[in-house]
Amino acid sequence: MRRSIAVWVAALCLIASPADAQRLPPGVTPVHYTLWFAPDLEKQVFRGRETIDVRLTAATRSITLNAAEIAFDRVTITAGGRSQDARVSLDPKAEMATLTVSQTIPAGAASIAISYTGVLNDKLRGFYISSANNRSYAITQMEATDARRAFPSFDEPAFKATFDISLMIDAGDTAISNGRQTSDTPGPDPRTHTVTFATTPRMSTYLVAMVVGDFVCREGRTEDIPIRVCSTPDKLRLTGFALEAAEQQVAFFNRYFGIRYPFGKLDIIGVPDFSAGAMENTAAILFREQYLLADPERASLKTLKDVASVTSHEIAHQWFGDLVTMKWWDDIWLNEGFATWMANKPLDEWKPEWRVELDDADETQQALGLDVLRSTRRIRTPAETPDEINELFDAIAYEKTAAVLRMVEAYVGRDAMRAGIAAYLRKYSFGNAAGEDFWTEMARATGKPVDRVMKSFVDEPGAPVLSVRTSCSAGTSSITVSQQRFIAASGAVEPSPQTWVMPVCFTAGNGTPRCEVLDRPIQTIEGAGCNDTLFANAGSRGYYITDYAPDGLRRLMAAASTLSPVERTSLLGDEWWMVRSARHDIDGYLELAGSLAADDTATIISTLAARLDFTGDLIAGDLTGSPQRERFQSWIRARFGPVLSALGLPGSQDDDDQRQSRRASLLRLVGVTGNDGNVQRLARDLAMRYLDDPATLPPTVAAAVLNVAALHGDAALYERYLARVQKPSDNPEEYYRFFNALAWFSDPVLIRRTLDFALASARSQDVGSLIGGLMGRPAARDLSWSFVKAQWQKLFNKVGAIQVPAIVSATGSFCSLDASTDVRQFFAQNPVSSAARTLQQAIERIETCAAMRVRQAQPLARWLERVP
Ligand SMILES: [Zn+2]
Repeated sequence: MRRSIAVWVAALCLIASPADAQRLPPGVTPVHYTLWFAPDLEKQVFRGRETIDVRLTAATRSITLNAAEIAFDRVTITAGGRSQDARVSLDPKAEMATLTVSQTIPAGAASIAISYTGVLNDKLRGFYISSANNRSYAITQMEATDARRAFPSFDEPAFKATFDISLMIDAGDTAISNGRQTSDTPGPDPRTHTVTFATTPRMSTYLVAMVVGDFVCREGRTEDIPIRVCSTPDKLRLTGFALEAAEQQVAFFNRYFGIRYPFGKLDIIGVPDFSAGAMENTAAILFREQYLLADPERASLKTLKDVASVTSHEIAHQWFGDLVTMKWWDDIWLNEGFATWMANKPLDEWKPEWRVELDDADETQQALGLDVLRSTRRIRTPAETPDEINELFDAIAYEKTAAVLRMVEAYVGRDAMRAGIAAYLRKYSFGNAAGEDFWTEMARATGKPVDRVMKSFVDEPGAPVLSVRTSCSAGTSSITVSQQRFIAASGAVEPSPQTWVMPVCFTAGNGTPRCEVLDRPIQTIEGAGCNDTLFANAGSRGYYITDYAPDGLRRLMAAASTLSPVERTSLLGDEWWMVRSARHDIDGYLELAGSLAADDTATIISTLAARLDFTGDLIAGDLTGSPQRERFQSWIRARFGPVLSALGLPGSQDDDDQRQSRRASLLRLVGVTGNDGNVQRLARDLAMRYLDDPATLPPTVAAAVLNVAALHGDAALYERYLARVQKPSDNPEEYYRFFNALAWFSDPVLIRRTLDFALASARSQDVGSLIGGLMGRPAARDLSWSFVKAQWQKLFNKVGAIQVPAIVSATGSFCSLDASTDVRQFFAQNPVSSAARTLQQAIERIETCAAMRVRQAQPLARWLERVP
């Protein structure tokens, strides 16, 4: 699954529930399901009939399986030549049903036949209803624990079985499922037909998929594997890029894993409403439209990268997740971390000009953003209830695991890593595995202690900080490295008993990197020349933060241009974490950022722009009434304005992607953070032209223009944006450009209109991101939070338990102790069990920010006095 909301960096010290509270009792194993569904899109219900072939290890009179929101009609259990009707007793809280018969069922094979009805719900989970183009669709999303809403089942990932699926649907509709279609029979009445799909290979229930509607497909193939990208009929023209990407990616993974794509055909379907970004159902991947569809002429670099990387993530899952599946949800990182890490590999080969290694470095910083909190979690965290399981889909499972895998790959080498992965996948194909199975196989295949490295990062929470100190004697230096857990909230050093086993690569001067495996709290390494610049994360492949001594840092900053772009990205990250935790004063960071203003790497500009905006909002913003806020803005204009002018606005459509992306970041930085009136006026002119003719702006710059124009935009401009959001558009990218820009208006009346729009008219899948966008803007933050509190029940009902953590997480953008008290009190009165850890993390982020604001106020004021 790919999460939908980038800012949803989720958080709760795990409150361990009674062991196995919601696991099925042992003794019954499903072997094969035969499923038949008759969805009624008008009445939003469905009828279901199923037969589950099972094996019993011992004789019994009752069988327990999972079911939620299912009305059982008739249940018959057949075994040993005898069929008996079963009595059903429901346990809605545990989402289980127990089927009891009067005569003992013998050990061995049995079959359970169930007829039932269910609800096509509007909560985007299980079997649900979706709407677009004045009609309804039936869609599924089973991960993590919602297959039980579509069919009574043994709904745990280790219960793999084969599936025969058929659907009785309206005569004019089509259906797509995991297997290839094997028959299409008219009837049973003239208004329906019945579509049957081939038996699937062994797979988990959470990977079952069905879609019903008027979907149309663009067809391609790779090495005789049929691949289709499907959409509603109006959007078929936008499917070409995803098909091209998928064809290349299947070929890449066939080669990389040395295991041919194992599921026959591959369908990829964009659906109108979807809770996640995308879902890797076996051979029937479902997507939110905005991550699948791209205008062949006018897509931005971001959209093309999103489409390619999300298809790649989901296709990688066909091996990592679908072919080999974790035994239980605590090892979800084996799915999500691997798919995240793998996703950029085919892109690197296909589009080298995209420089995806910079996206990798950026992803590592995203993981750190969560992992520097006390309330982060271990990569492998116990989870028993559906709420606990759903909260595991966070930046730790995805981005942190991916970062750890990049570190391991740099340590063992690409070929050895690939050999280890291939051996692991071959060994566990069509089965299940745990973390130990992976790293044992890796250690065997590579001959290196990958097991020790992986275990320390998977089972210890948080991120290490390396303190690097050099001393000099007789012309050579020795490097003393100490490691401890980094916690952003704590300026002081905290005792931390943790020690990681971590590969670390240093570069000194222009020498080649030296790599060591550190496994003690303090270690000394013989260095190079005394005056060499030492960088402690060569190639930015390590998952740690580096704290340099002041003289070492000065040398490094002066030599920043000699580092590679990825290394500069991680140096900016290291220094930011030092500032956030008040280990270093903020002036050094601001000077480093200023010195990189003309850097030609787009990721560096977007990274520092985001952190300067944060600084402007939360530090300088606090000094309103003094000239300091204006001085900060004026520094931004003076330092970055000329770079933006040199790039030009709107700039040439022929500029390469890096230039276009830098232009977009600098436009927001100078126009919003720098509050530059001229840039704001120019953005408004460009926005007006764009509204009349989208061809007037390069696609990669368009969103930034619309955002900056909105900042001081009036009701007339708001109306024009809103009209674009309300009129049906066949192009999701264009729709979301205007939709997201609604959050950038500063006029309270317009902010209120956007909030009302979110509640009344936005699709439920989009409410969290719109409210998150508003909470991220200082002008809208308080108003939005008041609205959320006043309308909480309505919002909760609209977005549902799966989406609500995005709103809880958005409160993490506050920065005062009063706000943290308020957030804490509100959620104490309105508990959200699906966002327990997320809430703790949001509160810690608020408090960390408030502490930083106090600690950096003086250094910032001193620096502002000094800047020219
Ligand atoms: Zn995934």
